[in-house]
Amino acid sequence: MERRTFLQLTGASLGAAAFGRAPAIQPEPAPEIVVVGAGAFGGWTALYLREMGHSVRLIDAYGPGNARSSSAGETRQIRASYGDREIYSRWAVEALARWKRREAEWERRLLYQTGQITLSREWTATLHATKTVLDHLGVENERVERAELEYRYPQFNLDGVSVGHWVPSTGVLKCREGCLAVADAFERRGGRFTMALAAPNQRAGGRLRTLTLSTGETVSAQSFVFACGPWHVKMFPEVLGPKLRLNRRAIFFVGTPKEDNRLSFPNCPTFVTRGVYGFPSIEGKGLKLGPYWDTGPLDPDTGDRTVTPDEVRRIHEFAAEALPSLAGQPLLETRVSPRTNSVDAHFIVDRHPELENVWLLGAGSGHGYKHGIMLGDYVAHRVTGRATDPMLDATFRLKEETF
Ligand SMILES: Cc1cc2nc3c(=O)[nH]c(=O)nc-3n(C[C@H](O)[C@H](O)[C@H](O)COP(=O)(O)OP(=O)(O)OC[C@H]3O[C@@H](n4cnc5c(N)ncnc54)[C@H](O)[C@@H]3O)c2cc1C
Repeated sequence: MERRTFLQLTGASLGAAAFGRAPAIQPEPAPEIVVVGAGAFGGWTALYLREMGHSVRLIDAYGPGNARSSSAGETRQIRASYGDREIYSRWAVEALARWKRREAEWERRLLYQTGQITLSREWTATLHATKTVLDHLGVENERVERAELEYRYPQFNLDGVSVGHWVPSTGVLKCREGCLAVADAFERRGGRFTMALAAPNQRAGGRLRTLTLSTGETVSAQSFVFACGPWHVKMFPEVLGPKLRLNRRAIFFVGTPKEDNRLSFPNCPTFVTRGVYGFPSIEGKGLKLGPYWDTGPLDPDTGDRTVTPDEVRRIHEFAAEALPSLAGQPLLETRVSPRTNSVDAHFIVDRHPELENVWLLGAGSGHGYKHGIMLGDYVAHRVTGRATDPMLDATFRLKEETF
């Protein structure tokens, strides 16, 4: 039974028992808004809606930040480096400030400020654009030449590297734990969370009237937000199937040497080098490596979550070459997750083309976690008809292009 329902029932029956009456069973009022999906996008949306005073129900088939979802696992990077895509840099800066405020409010550690170094063969157009945007936004960042890189980062093999780009005010967010913290805050604010599989049911007059839950319950609401991550392609195959692509992404945690803490927080930044990004070992998990190898599709319900022997071989080779002290260290843990990409790597926030009270929210495109704290606020404003930035509305609209 849900905690809130339990408290309501026990509260009601205790009060009634004290006065010697049987409790009257009241039909529960329909929520104004139902959010399906308690990952990074749906969870924050539900919380902001609730904080605005709306009655909200949050529903998730497997639970917030569950191991099948895109928000699964220990950590995600919060970076402000986006080339010339200034809106995401701006959002990342504001997101960082908001994450810090929520950490303080919830008295829960969700952020490790590591800084980020990109190691590169040359000063590319993307690095130049990133620097220009960050300078414009007043975000501290620095082009670092080879000699200085050697001094600062003795952990790295800098063969082939000529230049770096350093952004100190970035870091690593606790991912699954962040989703749990958001859902917890949502319930404490009076929101109702239900663990169940939801399916759209009755439609009438261009609107969705009800959802059916795997518990057998039928739920009605004025508006519905579907934040189903990689499940969107199953939920709305005609509308979203051609516009989303699911990729299998593997993550590896390699043990750091027992007498060397140069690869652990706070001695090592997050980094990008030789086509792989990585995080220092945080909370003893081992150094995290995320290769950008494209390894095909992954069904979020049934897909196999084990890494292949070839991937293990490649990651050991990479680790030994890029971070020499990792040679011979064991692989401590691996994780395989689905990544949901849109055609242009922008998020999608738009109405369902045939159902005016249904909002589609998704396409994290490998960079959405940090922005959930911004996106949820934006979506809560849109769904409730409050003013939003037209430039963002256009950026996040469902585009014509397909894969
Ligand atoms: C390997 C990897 C690395 C990444 N690295 C970063 C990073 O470093 N920084 C960053 O910012 N972002 C990163 N991202 C992207 C980020 O993690 C995602 O954009 C974000 O987590 C997406 O959240 P979501 O809420 O859209 O989806 P999800 O987290 O997948 O949530 C969808 C939820 O919907 C629920 N659901 C689906 N269908 C139903 C249904 N019918 N009924 C009820 N519930 C349903 C699911 O159970 C799930 O909990 C990475 C992603 C991956 C995969």
